Amino acid sequence: MTTHPYGPEAATLVAVAEDVHAYIQPDGSWCLNNAGLVVGDGRGVLIDTAATRARAERLRHEVEKILPGGPGTVVNTHFHGDHHFGNCVFAPTASVIAQEDVREQILRAGLDLQRIWPAVDWGDVRLVAPTLTFRDSLRLHVGELTVELIDVGPAHTTHDVVAWIPERRVLFCGDVAWAGVTPFCLMGSIEGSLAALATLRALDAGRIVPGHGPVAGPEVLDDTEEYLRWLQRTALAGHEAGRTPLETARATDLGPFAKLLDAERLVGNLHRAYAELDGRPRGFELDVVGPFQEMAAYHGRMPDCHA
Ligand SMILES: [Zn+2]
Repeated sequence: MTTHPYGPEAATLVAVAEDVHAYIQPDGSWCLNNAGLVVGDGRGVLIDTAATRARAERLRHEVEKILPGGPGTVVNTHFHGDHHFGNCVFAPTASVIAQEDVREQILRAGLDLQRIWPAVDWGDVRLVAPTLTFRDSLRLHVGELTVELIDVGPAHTTHDVVAWIPERRVLFCGDVAWAGVTPFCLMGSIEGSLAALATLRALDAGRIVPGHGPVAGPEVLDDTEEYLRWLQRTALAGHEAGRTPLETARATDLGPFAKLLDAERLVGNLHRAYAELDGRPRGFELDVVGPFQEMAAYHGRMPDCHA
C-alpha cells in the first residue's frame, strides 16, 4: 500500500523524439527509476523495466499503447533491481540484453534489494537474467534508428550501460547522471563517474533521460559532475582531518545540493571517495551493509522507498 503522492499511476510515457519515448516515474527517489522505449517497423527496444510487479505491469500497459504486443528486446543498464525486476513481465515475449558482468551481478544479487525495503509491495517478481550479453558495446537496429549500448563503468556500479540513439541525439544514461536526485556511487567509482561523464559529453546529446528524475538536456551531466567534484573536495578535507565518512557527512553543509532527493547518499558516496583517496582501484568491492546503516543514521531512520 502506498500513501506516496507518486504511486505507479503517476508515471508517464512521454515522447522525447520521433519514435523515442521515456517512461518517467516521479519523483525519482529510491527505486523510482525511468525506462526508455525506441520503436520502428512495428518492433521495439525497452531500456530498463521497473522495481515492482505493479509498476512493471503499468509500464507494459503504457508501452503497448504505442507498441501492441510489447517490445521484443529489453536492455538492463545495470544490476540494481529497480532497473530489472520487471523483466519478468516482458520476458515471455522478449530477449533480455545486458553487459556480461551485469548478468552475473544480477544472478548474484538476486532479489536482495527487497530485503532493504521489506515494507514495499514488490508483488510477484521473478528474477529473469539477461539471455544475451556483450562485452563493451553492442549496436541494435530498430527500423531506421540505431541503439548503441555502451558500457561506461565503473561509475554508478562497476558496469553501467548507456543507450545512445545518434539519429535523434537522445541518450538514456542509466544511473550515471541524475536529475534533481543525489548521485550514488557507493558501488562504483567517483573517478570513473567523472570519466564516464566526459565520455557522455562527447556524444553531444540533445536530450538526456537519466535513470532517475525528469527528462533533461546536457546540463544534467554538468550538474552531476558538480556534485561529484564537491564530494571529492569534501572527502579530501574529512579524510585529512581524520574524520569517518559519517562524521564528515554530519559536519558538511550540503549547500545547493540540499535540494536534491536522497541526500543521505552523501555518506555512501564518502565511503567510495575515501576508498579512492586510499588508492583503491575504481569499482573495488566495498561493504555496502555498513554504509547503508550509516546512511540511515544520517537520515534519522531508514530512507523511504516509495516503489
Ligand atoms: Zn542504480
